[in-house]
Amino acid sequence: MKKAGAIDIGGTKTLVGVIGADGHVMSAMRIPTFRGDCFACLAQAAVEFEKCLCELGLAASDLAGIGVNMPGMVDSSNGILIDAPFARWRNVNVSGFLGGLLKTESISVENDVNACAIGEHFFGGDGGDFLWITASTGIGGAFFSGGRLVRGSGFCAGELGHVKVEYDRPALCPCGQSGCVEAHASGSAIGRMLLEKAGENPSLKAEIKKRGLAFDAATCAMLAREGVEEAAEIFNTAGMYIGRALGATANLLNPSKIYMGGGVANSLDLFIGALKKEFESCAVGQCSDVNIIKTALGYEAALKGAAASAFLSGGRGQQNLTSMKQGINA
Ligand SMILES: [Zn+2]
Repeated sequence: MKKAGAIDIGGTKTLVGVIGADGHVMSAMRIPTFRGDCFACLAQAAVEFEKCLCELGLAASDLAGIGVNMPGMVDSSNGILIDAPFARWRNVNVSGFLGGLLKTESISVENDVNACAIGEHFFGGDGGDFLWITASTGIGGAFFSGGRLVRGSGFCAGELGHVKVEYDRPALCPCGQSGCVEAHASGSAIGRMLLEKAGENPSLKAEIKKRGLAFDAATCAMLAREGVEEAAEIFNTAGMYIGRALGATANLLNPSKIYMGGGVANSLDLFIGALKKEFESCAVGQCSDVNIIKTALGYEAALKGAAASAFLSGGRGQQNLTSMKQGINA
């Protein structure tokens, strides 16, 4: 069976692995992302990746290619990270640098959220018009139309996280603007809302502290499942905002499905009601006929997406992705 290498550099964690053409994760390792120098971060990932190869008795030449996800804006036709604001990484030749370290030219570089959508297409078999949303620390999106990823003129299409959803009491967003859905419904926003609720309710605050829990989305989900009203309310609020952003997006793109991934998607059952209610009041007619579901790709969606990019490039690294992009623009 064909296999591909996958390197997923995330904002907080880096996953590396080898994935079979059927989506099976043959080997994977996880390390914290080094946020200092980008080249040091990539070198560290390459070392871990070589351990995975070694474990399976493989060399880079045995792979269909290696897909690399970067947490920022990527020029995938040239394998370059244009900008990753969270770490101030700019204009990094990822494919050239990693290709040198791993002694291969078959490296495809992709934005991490785009890669998830590519994974849904390749492994999940969705060949139509669909939207992908990752809701974790931040919120990102990617759009497939007619079986192809829509990249946009500046590699920036699908920036769902910065759709404005709140004008009366807008929260500041990491992008520098305010009122974005990322500022109101991401994992970070859910954690912030939990801290605010705890500030208003001393017994809730004491309970969280007594149990040694963090003020984050995972704690909020746990409390909501235990019946804590404030925690359930937070998810309703976040769901409402996500529904608003998705409604506006559905009006523009008319997808048939919306796949949700990322840590917050594990709590989709806690906010799908509020999400759908708002979605239906924002999306018009045929645009509201959308199936909104959690991805079946699971925790390793982005890692599988990296492998999918490598399989789709057919071992020719960035070249085939160039033709993929030309296909979109044709
Ligand atoms: Zn924003």
